[in-house]
Amino acid sequence: AATGGPSTARQVKLDKECELRVEVGPDTPLRLRLLTGNAEIFGTEIPPEIWVTFPPRLKFAVFTWYGATIEMDGTTETDYTADETPMISYVNVHAVLEGRRNRAKALPSDSDSSQGPRVIVVGPTDSGKSTLSRMLLSWAAKQGWKPTFVDLDIGQGSITIPGCIAATPIEMPIDSVEGIPLEMPLVYFYGHTTPSVNADLYKVLVKELAQTLERQFAGNAESRAAGMVINTMGWIEGVGYELLLNAIETFNATVVLVLGQEKLCSMLKDVLRNKPNVDVVKLQKSGGVVSRSAKARQKARSYRIREYFYGLANDLSPHSNVANFSDLTVYRIGGGPQAPRSALPIGAEPAADPSRLVPVNINRDLLHLVLAVSFAKEPEQIISSNVAGFIYITDIDIQRFEICTLAHIEVSSAV
Ligand code: ATP
Repeated sequence: AATGGPSTARQVKLDKECELRVEVGPDTPLRLRLLTGNAEIFGTEIPPEIWVTFPPRLKFAVFTWYGATIEMDGTTETDYTADETPMISYVNVHAVLEGRRNRAKALPSDSDSSQGPRVIVVGPTDSGKSTLSRMLLSWAAKQGWKPTFVDLDIGQGSITIPGCIAATPIEMPIDSVEGIPLEMPLVYFYGHTTPSVNADLYKVLVKELAQTLERQFAGNAESRAAGMVINTMGWIEGVGYELLLNAIETFNATVVLVLGQEKLCSMLKDVLRNKPNVDVVKLQKSGGVVSRSAKARQKARSYRIREYFYGLANDLSPHSNVANFSDLTVYRIGGGPQAPRSALPIGAEPAADPSRLVPVNINRDLLHLVLAVSFAKEPEQIISSNVAGFIYITDIDIQRFEICTLAHIEVSSAV
């Protein structure tokens, strides 16, 4: 128990294959430790005895394969024990992937079969896609593989700020508190949180990311054999469905895991039936997945941006910079129609060019916006370039032609 003040510490005994589901309270962190047995949080083992501090609002489950005793200290929004989980089916998927990785590794690295499994996780919102992706990655990393995590979810992605698609190698089980490591992410900036704003641009960026990874895999037998786990958006109707199909194809996915929706699963099985090397597998959604309202999602996005600049525990200090207007050139991608109506045949609608670059004048409209810093050397390279990091515009002084920003640039490199 904590020393000083009233103690709120309590112990929970978990039977084999059970989990303790926790939502940390809104204001104060929760401490938790493993007293006996073994337990894991989304695929990452909890070290014995050591108190781990979970920040406010975090939602997680402590699962045990053989039984464990947990001690908690602090307030939770909810915490309860569940004895029904889909974990056995998830770990069975992991075992199959493991077999494919071993087979890929055993083959000469120039053969096509030296490519390990390319798993794509699909399903409606709040079906546990990110969580399943995380488990599969952590279990693989625990066995010594370095799988690549690809996050195509521009709304609630877990690699970097919202509005991006990104990829990063996972070299160790993912930390239960810190999440995906931010060391070397490969990030492409889309700039919106819904793909419908510019679905064609989304596709272009997905293709760029896939091609870059393909090049990296070609020179790296180890990551090729480990394969990838691709997380997707919860938008599975209409254009969303088309974007899913597009992602399956662009990344040459070999395993499609469908969470919690029969209809989507049978639709995918149907369209992919001519592709014998693609397995479509239906998996049950966990009862522990916490649904989030549109408002909660919006809030989560703001927290994510804050966290990017200031760190999870306010432990980063972003640089504040003052620059002259002439130091920065700002572009918007995909703005406005391509051709004026007068130049088109009668009745034709001007089509917006998804990848049109529009120079943006620096004025107060940019205040409080987040901009991506591109590695592009020329404007026409912007779309195909990954980004170095992001800046947040804190002030614009029109009289002095000065722009004040907060910057925190990840150490990613140009590809
Ligand atoms: P999205 O709709 O944003 O794509 P998703 O399908 O990826 O969501 P997750 O992000 O995996 O869903 O899960 C939603 C929330 O539920 C997360 O906060 C996650 O930590 C929590 N969660 C998932 N599984 C469990 C569980 N078994 N017990 C407790 N919380 C869980």
